[in-house]
Amino acid sequence: MTLTITVHRGTETIGGSCIEIASQNGERLILDAGRPLDAPREATGLLPGTLDLNRPATVVFSHGHMDHWGLIHELPGDWPIWAGEKAAEMMRLSTELFGGSITRPIETWHSRSRPFPVRGFTITPYLTDHSAPDAYMLLIEGSGRRILYSGDFRAHGRKAKLVETMIASPPERIDVLLMEGTNLGTDKPVITESELEDAFVALALETPRHVFVQWSAQNIDRTVTLFRAAKRSGRELVVDLYGADVLRRITGGTRLPTPGPDFHELKVVITPGGKRLYGRQGRDDYVAEMATSPFATSRARLANNRAIIMLRDSMVRDFERGGIGFTPDDAYAFSNWSGYLDPEDTNSGWTRAQAAGAKTLKLHTSGHASPADLARFAAAIAPKALVPVHGIAWDNPQIPLPPVRRLADGEPWDLP
Ligand SMILES: [Zn+2]
Ligand SMILES: [Zn+2]
Repeated sequence: MTLTITVHRGTETIGGSCIEIASQNGERLILDAGRPLDAPREATGLLPGTLDLNRPATVVFSHGHMDHWGLIHELPGDWPIWAGEKAAEMMRLSTELFGGSITRPIETWHSRSRPFPVRGFTITPYLTDHSAPDAYMLLIEGSGRRILYSGDFRAHGRKAKLVETMIASPPERIDVLLMEGTNLGTDKPVITESELEDAFVALALETPRHVFVQWSAQNIDRTVTLFRAAKRSGRELVVDLYGADVLRRITGGTRLPTPGPDFHELKVVITPGGKRLYGRQGRDDYVAEMATSPFATSRARLANNRAIIMLRDSMVRDFERGGIGFTPDDAYAFSNWSGYLDPEDTNSGWTRAQAAGAKTLKLHTSGHASPADLARFAAAIAPKALVPVHGIAWDNPQIPLPPVRRLADGEPWDLP
């Protein structure tokens, strides 16, 4: 009895991951069913052609980034789906944002590192450090084999300790490590979230007026970094209705910042664009609740205040009309993957800030492990074989690695 691993997508790409682990009894586990990052918004029929949809399977999502779960609507309706509790909430939130909904049930695990059975397999989720909250590595046991899937991870975020603990006392006897390699082949700087926090404090102290920041509201690590930087520099952190929605739905039961009496320095700006976004979702009650809360603020109030303010490109017009457009006394920090920044786009916050004479800069750190940390992690796990996924430089990784089993997309491999 053995297991068969098939990486349906991900041996040559970043994003759109889909991995199958099958037993000889015909039981199948699908790890992630991600949307390719370059797929057009309206595109459908994106599941890998080698994934057999006619036989039963159970699906487990490692975390709430679209490139790992975005094809949920294409999966057969009778396949059970599992995810972390907050990750599942983030999937619903992202879907609702575009006017859709996830109607099928998502089964969730509530506790970390506790094994649970699914048909033919035992799964142990390990909470890990990534730019998405509630991201997991998954230990899969079945037919006497032990497979560790790294999901997406890093070792320089606010939860780096989770990865260091795993390196210090790794799960034993791993047959196969399925590991991401997003940052292989790059030498982009990987600073810690704490170092980033210091940089934001320095920026806030030297900026005469507002510090506008573009970051992903779902990157809770970054929100914490900015909240701490705001407090340290005597400013408020201002998020929009969407940013507040994410915090309220994801941080429940934790000590993370969320709009409310415990976090005085966190404010929510109510804008026409934000109202429209939630009006379309039939959530006017949410808007009303926020707008009448003590932590609500307005563009007019912000005009005479020095804050750190969340700013997406879609909000720029509202801010200009409301009297808080860019001035030479402001700073605009782009705190996202630089591939999302289009310097040619004349409507972007970046070009408008530059045109107004505001200071523009990139302040970011990757959501993925550096090549050195990938090598360190793989060495600690010491699998019999490492199967590369979620990377584009695996043919020339330039780091020491355990024995590599390089698969092609859709190529089944029977474990020895
Ligand atoms: Zn990913
Ligand atoms: Zn991710």
